[in-house]
Amino acid sequence: MAGIFKLTAGGLMVNYRCAARCGHCLYLCSPQRETEYIAPDLAEAVFRRVKALGTPSMHISGGEPFLDEEALCAVLRAAQRAEMPIDYVETSSSFVTTPEAALRTVRRVRALGVRTLSLSISPYHNEFVALDKVLTLVGACREADVTASFWIDEFFPDLTSLPTGAPHRRQEYEALFGRGYWAQLRPRHGLRMLGRALFTHEKDMPTVPAARIPHMSRPCAELGGRSHYHIDLYGRYIPPGCPGLSLPLTALGQELDPRVYPVYTRLAQDPRSLLEYCKARGFAPRGSYYNRCHLCQEMRLFLYETEPGAYPELQPASFYEALLAERGAVSG
Ligand code: SF4
Ligand code: SF4
Repeated sequence: MAGIFKLTAGGLMVNYRCAARCGHCLYLCSPQRETEYIAPDLAEAVFRRVKALGTPSMHISGGEPFLDEEALCAVLRAAQRAEMPIDYVETSSSFVTTPEAALRTVRRVRALGVRTLSLSISPYHNEFVALDKVLTLVGACREADVTASFWIDEFFPDLTSLPTGAPHRRQEYEALFGRGYWAQLRPRHGLRMLGRALFTHEKDMPTVPAARIPHMSRPCAELGGRSHYHIDLYGRYIPPGCPGLSLPLTALGQELDPRVYPVYTRLAQDPRSLLEYCKARGFAPRGSYYNRCHLCQEMRLFLYETEPGAYPELQPASFYEALLAERGAVSG
């Protein structure tokens, strides 16, 4: 039996487009992703539905929510209509230009109920966003009486070891801190190894043959996930940390039919059965994998490519298209 009957804490991903292309991004966000932003009516419907399932408040994430300030404000008004408090809005600060413009923006979202911004900082982000943009936003938050919290603040000393006025590439960090610096970001960040993180860390992560991957018969608890879930701009529920796997809002609150969702229900009960299902369709595990999530993503990509449109839970398609494009660029 599989299904989502209760949701307690999650976020609304308003877009997949981002000014950055961080090497650890689970969702493969980048400037090349689709420009779509969630429509206000759909955002309101999402807020009402997850509230009915037990979520008392939500955060806003992306992509980069501030890429379209008008659209973000429309989402915040939708939250007010649905009486859904917003815990915080996540941002990489990439949208910041001047202190004055940042202050105008922060005051605007504050007037629509936002009291906290979560500012993403890490060497991955700093490859694309200068720390000075983040610091400018912190100043704007202070002036507008909005709390600025850092995610993850332990990276602050690393970031301030390089000039803060420009982004810095991996090679600059490795020149300063040593050749193993980038590899140890993986455990320091506590990365989930999916999406772009797999390309970035392919060479420095330990792998095991498919037959020896642990927990393959253990149900994926994430798929009944109540907290740390996301709903994306298409109104689709994404289990905690499982990009590319999603359910429509209408599927929440009821048992999932295995004939309609053969991938999701297999993973929710016994991931090994998905491996057998894929093998029967021609999937040949290639050598070794980091863990079962790595293999899971490979199996889902295989099904997406070999039976296009056959699996309604393998969405958004743009995730798999981005995966294929970035894999092609890496193997290139
Ligand atoms: S800023 Fe966030 S959403 Fe954008 S690429 Fe980086 S991790 Fe992904
Ligand atoms: S194996 Fe797949 S479904 Fe299970 S937690 Fe990992 S990514 Fe999610």
